[in-house]
Amino acid sequence: MSKKKRLIILFSAVLCLVVVLVVVAFAKGSHQNAVEKGGDAENKAQTETQSTPSVVTPTPDPSTTVPSATATNSTPETQGDNLTPETASTPFFKNNIIVVNKKHPLPQNWAPGENAEAVTHLRQLIAAAQNSGDSHASHIIEQWSGYRSFATQANLYSNYVASSGAQAANTYSAKPGYSEHQTGLAFDLKDSSGNLYRINDPVYDYSTDWVALHAHEYGFIVRYRDEWTPTTGYVGEPWHLRYLGVETATAVRNSGKTLEEFLGVSGGDYAQ
Ligand SMILES: [Zn+2]
Repeated sequence: MSKKKRLIILFSAVLCLVVVLVVVAFAKGSHQNAVEKGGDAENKAQTETQSTPSVVTPTPDPSTTVPSATATNSTPETQGDNLTPETASTPFFKNNIIVVNKKHPLPQNWAPGENAEAVTHLRQLIAAAQNSGDSHASHIIEQWSGYRSFATQANLYSNYVASSGAQAANTYSAKPGYSEHQTGLAFDLKDSSGNLYRINDPVYDYSTDWVALHAHEYGFIVRYRDEWTPTTGYVGEPWHLRYLGVETATAVRNSGKTLEEFLGVSGGDYAQ
């Protein structure tokens, strides 16, 4: 074989090797590219998923218990179900609104006393009721049943259980730790005979009652109605007001919903 022929064969072999290497390198490169592109899309999707809630969820201000009514319902619940006054470490808040019902107890040692802002508004409501000319509301007196400590509610509840049995008592009286009165934001109105406002009134009607029509103007809602028992856990109480602030109380009233439905939180009967 001539020297020239050997050089041509060697050159061809090298050329083939280079071509093969280039092809392999190209194939590898485009595959990696595709993987990277896929990875980018996933990262982007993750970034978007993570950033979305911070855009639409207003940051709650834990310093206030009476927030604006414009807060959305997207704030996570801060306390789960199945807690007891012994195991709950904090009250249950939704959209900065404290919620107490048969699913959401207060801690046993939660003792804020009567809320001063609520009392100021309550006095205004009572004054307006007394001047309303309404045959029932005008007899509301400036004495009410407001804040109750855990111990007070425990006494009250055990008296009700003793007199009418636990099953009946549970429909109108809260177990200790489950009373809205322990928040300092709930008030029972009384009339001039010392009875709870319109208790056992056969002609009572929420659609015409002065208190039910005007409470929100002073920042209150009538918390319990007979038709709301499946959600609230209690029979109707025309006398029981819950302070929410004018804006939120008006929004709740206009919604036609219970506080539980308005906030999207669980209610009804006790968990056990
Ligand atoms: Zn009450």
